[in-house]
Amino acid sequence: MKKDPIVYQYTEPKSPLPAEGVQPRVLFHTGEGHDEDECVYDCIQCGKNIAGELQQLNVGGADRASTSPRALQYRDVFLLTYYGNLHDTQTDDSGNVTEEASGLIRGLREAGIPVTILVEEDHTMLKEVATMEGPNDVFAAQSTEVQGLERKIVVFAQADGLNSENEDRGRLQAMSRCTAQLIWVKPPLPPPDKISH
Ligand SMILES: [Zn+2]
Repeated sequence: MKKDPIVYQYTEPKSPLPAEGVQPRVLFHTGEGHDEDECVYDCIQCGKNIAGELQQLNVGGADRASTSPRALQYRDVFLLTYYGNLHDTQTDDSGNVTEEASGLIRGLREAGIPVTILVEEDHTMLKEVATMEGPNDVFAAQSTEVQGLERKIVVFAQADGLNSENEDRGRLQAMSRCTAQLIWVKPPLPPPDKISH
């Protein structure tokens, strides 16, 4: 990340950090059930796998005991992309579905996770997201739309492969929005002959 001119150099901390923090959880858009010909944004299986991780973290679950911390809510989660936005179900004037939502969104919903997609430049919605007053849903957005906002859990769905400057920027933007647990969905590795260094 230091290669990026917009990132300031870190200064050495005066005292050791208390801990490294939790390890990111890494998922891959590859294997049985995944539509590898499509981008991760259109993969239902990736949506289901993300849902599984969120359920393991007890997101949206019941509070365990009055003495333990409150369970995480769906609104504590951002699902971030870098290229383009995820899209919701499209309907015509009679309410007939003309286009299904992005596969990632469908997978999450099929697994019982409520998701709202942040509408670009919808300032009312953005304000609700910023003040945590919107619906208790996971919010899906392009990382550039939520600069300055943070969530305990950030899921970053990485679209592209290795050595892409824009994906580096995407990772930087998405990961820096996370205060506790990062879930990183990576694309399949390209075949060896396509890796350039
Ligand atoms: Zn997938």
